[in-house]
Order: sequence, then C-alpha cells, then structure tokens
Amino acid sequence: MTGKEFQPILLFALITLTVLSGCEKGKTGVHSDFNITNKDIKSVTDKLPQDIRSNIIKKPQCFLEYMERILKEPPDYTVLVDKKHALSSGYVPPGLVNIRKYHLQTTRKYSEIRRIVIPDLTAMAEAARLQGVELVIGSSYRSYAYQKRLYSYYVRTDGKKKADRESARPGHSQHQLGTTMDFSPIDDNFIKTKGGEWLDKYAWKYGFSLSYPPDSESITGYKYEPWHYRYVGRDVSFVIERYFDGKQQLFLEFYDKTKEFFKKSLRK
Ligand SMILES: [Zn+2]
Repeated sequence: MTGKEFQPILLFALITLTVLSGCEKGKTGVHSDFNITNKDIKSVTDKLPQDIRSNIIKKPQCFLEYMERILKEPPDYTVLVDKKHALSSGYVPPGLVNIRKYHLQTTRKYSEIRRIVIPDLTAMAEAARLQGVELVIGSSYRSYAYQKRLYSYYVRTDGKKKADRESARPGHSQHQLGTTMDFSPIDDNFIKTKGGEWLDKYAWKYGFSLSYPPDSESITGYKYEPWHYRYVGRDVSFVIERYFDGKQQLFLEFYDKTKEFFKKSLRK
C-alpha cells in the first residue's frame, strides 16, 4: 500500500473514532457519566411507544450522551406548555428583541423573539437563502393578554370546539415562551411552499422543532400546523428527530417525567 492510498483510510478511521467517542460505552453501567443500568433504561422508557423505546434501548449510551447535555441546558427549552400545562398570566420571557433588527424577513414591522434564538435562527435563514428559499416569520412572541384576545376572537367566530383545535387558551400558548414562531403564510398549504418543505427537512438541524405534526392530534390536541416551530436547542431537536419520530410532545412529556431521575443518576 502506498502512502497516498493509506491517507484516506487513516482519515476514515479518524472520523469514525471521533464520532464513536461521543457514544463510548462506559466501564460500568451503560454510560460512564451515569449511575444507570440497562434495567433502569428499560424501566424508565416502558410507557413509550414500542418503536421509540427500542431505538433508545438499542444504543442507550448514545441517548444518555444527549440527555447529559440536555440536563445542562436552560429549562425553558424543555418546559411543557400545552393543553394541560400553562405559563402564569404574569410570565414575560427575558431578553425579547425585535426580529427586524437581525435582517430576518417578517410580515410585521414589530415582531419579538428571545435573543437566545437569534444565532440559530439567522444561521437557518441564511442556509435556506443559500438554497434559494426565503423564510418569512409571520407571528412570534405573544403576551398572555394578546393570546386571551386572540382565543376569544376564535371562540366568537368559530365556536369553542373548533377554536380549541386551532388556538391555545391564554397561558397555554407556546408563543408566550418567546421561542416559538409561525412562518408565513400561516396556511394549511404552507407545507407545499418552498419554505414549508425546506423547514420540514432541515429545521431540526438548527434546533427548531415542529410542535404539531401531522396525524398527532391525539397526542398534541391540535390539528397539523406545518408553520408552527418552537426553538428547543440543537440537542433536544436532535433527540426528537432521531429517537422520538419527530414528536416533540412525546419527548417533552417523557423528559418532564424522567429528568429528576436522570439528574440524580449523574455521577458527580
Ligand atoms: Zn403558532
């Protein structure tokens, strides 16, 4: 073998080693940073749908690698805000900024989002732009009072039943978090637009997660909203995509129930 032939093999070995080292099996248990056994992993995942559960059980050390990082992230990335879990009427997220200041396209002159979202949001918009897709934000932060007016409007116009499938009650909207946005046009056909298709494929790589996916009304309580994305950070969005079949609600409920167990199991 000549030196030239050897170089690509060496490079391949190096890349493989780098990738694998992130998920190395611990000397004891399933991950060296956690005091957790295979039996614990099986028991903590036993309420999950079978396909999701077997994905985790197959390679628990990789899953735990991500869990370790998620445990250190801001709790706002994973807090449940859904039909059953509300934010208080007085909750206003910190660090709201006008999206327009960051060369991002919006349909409104003044549209706010939390500053922590900006780096990944601008990176995502730029990546889409390079592929000829212009992402436009239609709606972002909404205060409790605004959501109250919006929900009442839908109830008056469409009746309570329809309003509850399409609009959140005050305190129950992810938009109050300041990390959630609706891309434009806010329309059932958004998924057929260039922006909708692009986000569906790539948004998770930038830490954005589709909150109300198709065929998930029994889990989320909302009909499919192809335009509504919540920023959860890149580790959480990876886990939702890779392990939880793109079902944000399932992961957030799982994390809510198990985070204390995982925290306690972390070796100091
Ligand atoms: Zn929305």
